Amino acid sequence: MLHEYDIAIVGGGPAGLSAAYTAAMGGCRVILFEKDDSIAHNIRTSGVSWIREMEELNIPKKLYNPIRNFTLISPSNEVTIKGQGFASCVLDVRGLYQYLATLAAESGAKIMVRSHVYGLLSDLRHEIRGLRVRTPLGNLEIKAKLVIDASGFSSFVGRKLGLATPWKKYGVGAEYECYCDSMDKETWFLMVGRRYSDAGYAWVFPLSNNRIRIGVGIGRPESYADPIHRLNEILEKKLRPLDRIKNIQPLEFHYGFIPNEGSRKSTVADRLILVGDSAGQSNPLVLEGIRYAIEFGRLAGKVGAQSLSQGAVKSSLYKYETIWRQKIQSKINSALRVQSRWLTLSDEEWDRELEIVRHMSAKEFLDFIRAEFTVTRMVKLALDNPGLAVRQLFKSMLRKG
Ligand SMILES: Cc1cc2nc3c(=O)[nH]c(=O)nc-3n(C[C@H](O)[C@H](O)[C@H](O)COP(=O)(O)OP(=O)(O)OC[C@H]3O[C@@H](n4cnc5c(N)ncnc54)[C@H](O)[C@@H]3O)c2cc1C
Repeated sequence: MLHEYDIAIVGGGPAGLSAAYTAAMGGCRVILFEKDDSIAHNIRTSGVSWIREMEELNIPKKLYNPIRNFTLISPSNEVTIKGQGFASCVLDVRGLYQYLATLAAESGAKIMVRSHVYGLLSDLRHEIRGLRVRTPLGNLEIKAKLVIDASGFSSFVGRKLGLATPWKKYGVGAEYECYCDSMDKETWFLMVGRRYSDAGYAWVFPLSNNRIRIGVGIGRPESYADPIHRLNEILEKKLRPLDRIKNIQPLEFHYGFIPNEGSRKSTVADRLILVGDSAGQSNPLVLEGIRYAIEFGRLAGKVGAQSLSQGAVKSSLYKYETIWRQKIQSKINSALRVQSRWLTLSDEEWDRELEIVRHMSAKEFLDFIRAEFTVTRMVKLALDNPGLAVRQLFKSMLRKG
C-alpha cells in the first residue's frame, strides 16, 4: 500500500519525536516509525542531563531528579564537588520520551510503533523518495518529500544511501536500574580506572533515594571488553560507592551504543536530514546527547517544514546544519581531544587527574564536564589552577585539529 506524507521520520527516540512535533506544528503531514513495541520500550541511555537545558526546552520538572553534587572516584582517590544549587539532573527517560511523543501526537503527527523501516523508495536517479516499512498493518510504502533519519547509532537511512559509514569509534554501555535502600538522591558518581572500565567510566545516577542507575561504558576500538561483565563485577564486589549501600536489586536492564568520533561530515542531503546520534550530535566527554537530540530534533522539524516549498533540496536544509554546527561543533572538537587523553590514562594518572578536579569550583567543573569550552573560560581556569597537569590538559584542548 502506498501512502503519501510531507515528512517521514525514522526513529522514535528524543530526536525523531522532537522533529515530529515541530514539523507537525509547521503544518506538515508527518509520520514517524519506531521499530520497538512502544516509545522508550528499550532504554539505551542513562539519562543524565542539565536543568538549564531542560527548562529551556520546557521539559516538566516532574520528569527529572535534580542533582547538586558530583563525586568522582578513581582507584585511590575520591573528589566531591559540592554545588551551590541544582545544575544537573537524572531523567525519567521513559516518562520524558512518552512526553515528547505526546507533544508530537497532539500537534498532529502520526506515530507508528512496532514499525521497522527496512528499505528506501528511490527514483531513477537513486534519490530518496520515501520508506519501506514493516508494520502491524502490513508492509507499507511511504512516499515523502523529506525524510528525517533519527534512527540513532545505526544511521539507517544515511548508511543505506552511502552518505554515512559505520561508526569506527563508539561507546557501548550496560546498566541496571535498581531498587536501593539508601541513596543520597542529590549526588551522582562517575568512577574511572581499569577496575571500572578498560576505556571509559562507570556511573551511579540516582533517580530518588530508592532508585539508582548503575552502569559501565566502554570505548571501542580501545577495548572490546564486555560492559556487562564489568558491571556484574562492580555489583558483586560492591566497588565504591556501592559499598555504602546495603541492598541493591536490579529491576531493569539497559544496553546501548553511542557514536564517539564527533559529528558526520554532512547532515543534510537532497530530501534528507540526519539528527541526534545519527548525526553524531553528542558531548563526547561524558557521552551525553539527549539535550542535543531534543533541541536539534526540533530544529530539524522546523527547518524541514520550511524547506518543503523549495522541494527540500540540500540548499534549503543548510540552515539546520549551520545553526547546530555553530552551537556545538567546536565544543565537540575540544571535548574529543580531552577524551582521547582520558582514554589512555593509567590508574595512577587518573588518581592525579582527580586532583585537577579537586581544585575546580562547581561552576568550573560543570563548564568542563558539559564541554562548555571557550578560550576565555579555559585561560581563566588555567590561570586559577597553575599546576602542570592543568596546563597540559588545557594545552591539549586548545590544540587545533
Ligand atoms: C549506555 C549509554 C548511556 C548514555 N547516557 C547518556 C546520558 O546520561 N545523558 C545523555 O544525554 N545521553 C546519554 N547517552 C546518549 C543518548 O542516549 C543519545 O545521545 C540519545 O538517545 C540520542 O537520541 P536519538 O533520538 O538520536 O537516538 P535514539 O535514542 O537511539 O533513538 C533512535 C530510535 O530509532 C529507532 N530505530 C532505529 N532504527 C530504526 C528503523 N530502521 N526503523 C524504525 N525505528 C528505528 C530505535 O529503536 C530508537 O528508538 C547514552 C548512550 C548510551 C549508549
